[in-house]
Order: sequence, then structure tokens, then C-alpha cells
Amino acid sequence: MSKRDYYEILGVARNATDPQIKSAYRKLALKHHPDRNPGDAAAEEEFKAAAEAYAIISDPEKRSAYDRFGHAGVSGAAAGGFDPNAFAGFEDIFGNLGDLFGFGDMFGGRRRRGGPQRGSDLRYDLEISFEESFTGSETSIQIPREETCETCKGSGAAAGSAPEVCAQCKGSGQLRFQQGFLTVARPCSTCRGIGKVISKPCQACRGAGRVGRERKITAKIPAGIATGQRLRLYGEGEHGSAGGPPGDLYVVVHVQDHDVFHREEDDLYCHLTVSYPMLAMGGTAQVPTMMGDEQIKIPAGTQIGARFKLRGKGMPNVSGRGHGDLYAITRLAIPKTLTKEQKHLLEELAKTMPQETLDTSESDEAAAKPFFEKVKDIFG
Ligand SMILES: [Zn+2]
Ligand SMILES: [Zn+2]
Repeated sequence: MSKRDYYEILGVARNATDPQIKSAYRKLALKHHPDRNPGDAAAEEEFKAAAEAYAIISDPEKRSAYDRFGHAGVSGAAAGGFDPNAFAGFEDIFGNLGDLFGFGDMFGGRRRRGGPQRGSDLRYDLEISFEESFTGSETSIQIPREETCETCKGSGAAAGSAPEVCAQCKGSGQLRFQQGFLTVARPCSTCRGIGKVISKPCQACRGAGRVGRERKITAKIPAGIATGQRLRLYGEGEHGSAGGPPGDLYVVVHVQDHDVFHREEDDLYCHLTVSYPMLAMGGTAQVPTMMGDEQIKIPAGTQIGARFKLRGKGMPNVSGRGHGDLYAITRLAIPKTLTKEQKHLLEELAKTMPQETLDTSESDEAAAKPFFEKVKDIFG
């Protein structure tokens, strides 16, 4: 199935202004929000599609990439190349909706309380070591969340009693006032809009029907996961109320830097520090890898900044598509102190190499650039 056009999803013109885009997305998000459509898979798909489209079109850089190259221009940004349900590519949308539009307030204020409500999604920031991201791991995390009170099973009423229909509003949760020609509905103050009152509250939750709990949850961290990627643990968010489904728990992963290796996509880069004689005459050098040292042959005349590729020694692909490669980039070890003999030998060597015969074009350029600049060069 071909991917739908983002502008079409949002229902806006290709030259739509930011306020138009925001307003279109807001309408769609409100209409299809999972809280409003509990258990409706089609609505959830629409909601996700709108969120993904908005994530791209609301970002000037991504929008211009999308305008020029279509989905191919932003595929990394939106889908992450991984199951988008597990690693929501629209990372921040669920989390940011509240911030963007004040969703919480909007729903809390407008929605009749007392009906089934989906529990809130939770976010947990997890820091893992570089090694753990390489091997994958299973980690147990402690999260505080709201759960249904076991004592009253969420009703909030003490054992042997049940919530009663509010006499003030007759269970509607709203009171109507005549204001001139208008009828205005306000939340009932007696039951606070719930439509029911609890005369004998449950002791365990003081009538709230929910209690705060610390839960230990085991999260499987797939090998190859990178900073910013996010695991979705279905149903591990806060419990829903009145029979509503639980929210989800999003574990946002932060991978610590490594002293030796630098990651770009699934490839790794490291320095290979070698002596001048080794570069000039060639030899065998040890390259560190995540699985231990490997020996490689350095040909005579190797320049500083030369790259040696160790196939398949990079990071595992998080979607299980093999491993990246490892690039070892040579740099020169210059001794800070020399023995008398070394100094003498270097002087003798220098005499054989008059300055003007040195061909420095290649090595100078490579040496002058910092390591990660060179990394950029490699990929253009
Ligand atoms: Zn209770
Ligand atoms: Zn009432």
C-alpha cells in the first residue's frame, strides 16, 4: 500500500500556512483522539496518521524535504525504519499533545466524567550504556502510576455501598441555567460533574477509586537501539477509569557516549593511533571492536586519516537487519619525548627528506580536519 500524502491526510493545501496546518491537525487530533474513541482501531490509525503528517509538515525543514522528495525525503524522520507502533516515529506527539493544545484541560473540562476513560500514557526516560545498546538488554524499571483501587474495584464506595445518583443533577453531571435567551450548562457542583455521589467513601482510596502505586516493569531493550528511540509498552500506563482501557508506557532511551566508538546510523567509527614508521613502512595494528580487538594490515605509505573498514563490526540494526560496519581512521602518534638514539635517528631521517620533496597535499588536508568532520566527508 502506498503511503498517503501528508497534505491530504491533514486536508490542507500544499501552500497552507502554519496556523492553517495547526488548526487542521487540531481538529483531526480531537476527532480521532484515542481517549474519545476507546477501542476504535480505525480512529487510532487516523490519529496516528495525522500526528505523523503534522510532525513533518509543521517542521519547516522536514516540510521542505517532503515537498522536494516526498516520503523518501523524510522516511527516517517519520517512521524511523522500525515498527512505528513500537518506536513511535511521531515520538513527541502523544507526549506533546497536552503541551500543544492543552488536551488534558480540554477533555477534563468538556467530557462528561464518569464514563469509561482511557488511562493516561506515561513517559519514562531510561539511560543505558553503549554496551547495553550493542547487546540489547532486559531492564526493570520502577514507575509510579495510578491504578484502579483493588478494595472498591474503582467505584470509590466503601464495601457494601455503591455510588448513588446525584440528587442535584439527577445523574447528568450538569446543571442548566437560563441566561437571557440562552441555556447554559455548568458542571454540577454537588457531584463535580460525575453524576454520582459517594456517601460512604472507600477507605483505601478515599473515594477516588484510584490509588498511586510503584510498579516494577520489565522492559526488553532491543540490540541496536539509539538515543531518542522509544519503546511502547502497551497497557502499562495509568489504569483507565470506569472500565476504560489503560494507557501506554513510553520508554525513551538515552544511550551514553562511548570513550572509543562513535555511532553514525549503524556504523561505528574509532581512531587507530599508529606510529610514523608503521604508516610509512606498513605493519599490523590492533583495532578495538565491540567484540574485542582485531588485527588489520596497514599497507606501506598509509596516510593519516585513512579509513579501514571492518565489515559487520558496527552496531546491530535495531530492526534485525544485520550489523553496520566499523571504520578505523588512522591518526599519528607523535612522541612527546625522544630518547637520544631516537632523536639521532630522526635527524638522520630528516636529512634524507628535504622539505620541498614532501608531498603533503593529502596528509595535510586529512590531518587538519577534526575526526568527525572526516566522518561527514565520508558520507558527503
Ligand atoms: Zn477504593
Ligand atoms: Zn450532580
